Amino acid sequence: MENLKRFLSAKALLFSALVFLTSVLAPAQTNPQGVSARARSIHDSAIVVDTHADTPQRFLDENFDIGSTDPNDNGHISLDKARAGNLGAEFFSIWVDPATNQGHFAKHTLDLIDSVYEQAAHHPDRMMMAFSVEDIERAHKQKKLAALMGIEGGHSIENDIHLLRDYYRLGVRYMTLSWSNTNEWADSSGDIDDPKIQHHNGLTDFGKQVVLEMNRLGMIVDISHVADKTFWDTIATTKAPVIASHSSARALTNAPRNMTDDMLRAVAKNGGVVDVNFYSGFVDEDYRKASEPINKQAGEAVKAYLEKQKADGKTVTYIEVDRIEREWAAKIPRPPLKSLIDHIDHIAKVAGIDHVGLGSDFDGVAGATPQGIDSAADLPKITQALLDRGYNAADIHKILGANILRVFKEVERVSQQMQAQKLSSNQ
Ligand SMILES: [Zn+2]
Repeated sequence: MENLKRFLSAKALLFSALVFLTSVLAPAQTNPQGVSARARSIHDSAIVVDTHADTPQRFLDENFDIGSTDPNDNGHISLDKARAGNLGAEFFSIWVDPATNQGHFAKHTLDLIDSVYEQAAHHPDRMMMAFSVEDIERAHKQKKLAALMGIEGGHSIENDIHLLRDYYRLGVRYMTLSWSNTNEWADSSGDIDDPKIQHHNGLTDFGKQVVLEMNRLGMIVDISHVADKTFWDTIATTKAPVIASHSSARALTNAPRNMTDDMLRAVAKNGGVVDVNFYSGFVDEDYRKASEPINKQAGEAVKAYLEKQKADGKTVTYIEVDRIEREWAAKIPRPPLKSLIDHIDHIAKVAGIDHVGLGSDFDGVAGATPQGIDSAADLPKITQALLDRGYNAADIHKILGANILRVFKEVERVSQQMQAQKLSSNQ
């Protein structure tokens, strides 16, 4: 009897030790601070899709390995961070800096595309290239990060529709019509007030042809960064839903590349999705105002550095520019997470719950994200904040990824339809 008691109490002790271990130790490793079990389970039952991360520049210039476990790495994306935040699919940005790549935009585009494939090839057990909604769903089932690619800036096609088709064949599934630079067929919000730049009053005829060819190929048309008139021309031209891969709301934060409420409603009517950019300067008006003079000084510091290196016959890498920008960005206090959630909430209210998603701009904002968002591992905090505001699980799932998957599927369907029509009209 005594032995049995001792056995029972030993068993009870073991049991409580196990409960302690699972309830205290395990969540501490997998769950960011302040995320409830309910938020975590809603978050983990979603296919989480982020439509914009600039990590490929790190792959190429810094030789960064996405399998990195370095605790001191200040990057937003690694396979561990993606796993911790249940990030299911990332659209890696293929961004060619027009200033440092004059004369060889296409070559640099190809080098960045290669860098994404190389990462997937090095980590076949945890990451796979994805080119369709089906691929994303397959990767999710296999618990792998789906790696997609989007070109950021129409200058990458060098005014050549053949190159556009080549990029599609290489797996590129969206293209942002312009980056901050106006190209030869699309005006950008980044230089629309610069009289030295030759503008086109939106999209040129060739630009409209690019949009239609993207529709036919099944490449998502992305209107982040474009000038307002380019946006309206695109909406009038496209036969498929569009996305803003990383844009926030102008009514809350007055950045010219954020979207007005009229634009949000137009994207809703078009069936598309606006994926909110996390950059502090696009989601917090106080931060934006404080950053104006700082960004100007940072820009001058970068320019001076570029010129100095050029004079010395040296090339400049992403990491060097990033270091300078981070030093300047660190001078402004980070806004609260609430600012980012306000943008998601605003777009959900103005455009509707079916037209809002996540477009972090991770690894592209010199570390300037709201408090609490230090990497992809912190994505569950967004789910918690939405839950706190009364969003239900189904709505949260739409924001986390279901909306962009719906749009991607519709883009695929329109493409198949256009290709079938073309075939039958050729017969
Ligand atoms: Zn961008």
